[in-house]
Amino acid sequence: MTTRIHHLDCGTMHPFGAPGGRLMPRRMVAHCLLVERADGLVLVDSGFGTGDLADKARLGRPFLALVRPDLAAEQTAVAQLAALGHAPEDVTDVVLTHLDVDHAGGIGDFPHARIHVTAAEHRAAMEPATLLEKRRYIQAQWAHGPRWEVHEAGGDDWFGFTGVRAVGDDVVLIPLRGHTRGHAGVAVRTPDGGWILHAGDSYFWRGELETPPSYNFGMVGFQKLMAVHEKERRTNQERLRELRAGHPEVTVFSAHDAPELDALR
Ligand SMILES: [Zn+2]
Repeated sequence: MTTRIHHLDCGTMHPFGAPGGRLMPRRMVAHCLLVERADGLVLVDSGFGTGDLADKARLGRPFLALVRPDLAAEQTAVAQLAALGHAPEDVTDVVLTHLDVDHAGGIGDFPHARIHVTAAEHRAAMEPATLLEKRRYIQAQWAHGPRWEVHEAGGDDWFGFTGVRAVGDDVVLIPLRGHTRGHAGVAVRTPDGGWILHAGDSYFWRGELETPPSYNFGMVGFQKLMAVHEKERRTNQERLRELRAGHPEVTVFSAHDAPELDALR
């Protein structure tokens, strides 16, 4: 059972083209969750880790130049947990929306934890097939040999989506293919029995999920560029828009929208 949920930013970024915020937002976050459960701590997404800070070059020059992450030691999940009085070993499970550089960087700081990901995403990262996949996945982020928990597709109904149980009944992977081959949202049961949905990179900009949607010009281009299955990405974004409109009791948020994080913190 979930007893408490913390919303963390494990990697502020200031994307190129940000001045004025018209082309790209001035500030992007790496929205992660720390879920306190009776059985231990669960981390949802992991932002950048100490390994990324120690070897910034491993993130690649194009990423550093375009996305411009702060890479601050106090923002790593492991440092924020320490500030809350937790040891890395207290984290039993890390559930990842996908294995892009700004989501998987922190897993090296939790070598004891099970690392949950969809089977399709694991395959894409271990056997990248295209130039885009070869560039986006940083093999050094899992060179320590994580305890992977790879989840095949197929599960139960979750508000009309497929829900694949990851940690008990409280943390559920919601496959949302598009941004990457095995991209998923992560639904977490709240202490009062409701749900929140970390939608990962299903959308980047809060306006995209409003009805009717509004778009940030630069963000649309960036997302198209990074999408493996663009049509499915747009379809899944539409489904999330319907979820939010039809189920206001489910709180849906993006991995990267800063105002959404500020509102939830
Ligand atoms: Zn991302």
